[in-house]
Amino acid sequence: MQVLQQWRLFAPCSRYGNYVALDPNCLFCKIINGDIPAHIVFRNENVVAFNDIVPQAPTHVLIVPTLHVENAAGLAKMSPTLTADLFVAAGEIAATNGLTGYRTVFNTGAEAGQSVFHAHLHLLGGRGLAWPPG
Ligand code: 5GP
Ligand code: ZN
Repeated sequence: MQVLQQWRLFAPCSRYGNYVALDPNCLFCKIINGDIPAHIVFRNENVVAFNDIVPQAPTHVLIVPTLHVENAAGLAKMSPTLTADLFVAAGEIAATNGLTGYRTVFNTGAEAGQSVFHAHLHLLGGRGLAWPPG
């Protein structure tokens, strides 16, 4: 209970009862909680989106669920609707940025380049994007 007094462990999330756990050791949970600053471009009770600190394209936004889950498959198992919410947010952010085309990517596992183990959807756009990716 000591941790609870030092850090708000919970964020509101309507689809999962009143509150869902965040992880006080997780970078993106800290951003969701407002403990680490980020340029937030979209927020509702289930989703937070913020600019990537090392952008790989003119638009590079990270779209995250407001609950702590390690990767996309875990999120989809927990809630297909919350997984869909990330893509709906991606569409809205892309439209706001005037993007007619964009890429959405989940990296899963260190081998695929995942470095933050809180599921996040990369939204990339604003330049030509090659295929296959590196
Ligand atoms: P991953 O490599 O896990 O797929 O994506 C993690 C992303 O988080 C990377 O693109 C990285 O640049 C970004 N990132 C790492 N630390 C921070 C941070 O403190 N703030 C923000 N806004 N992005 C971060
Ligand atoms: Zn987290």
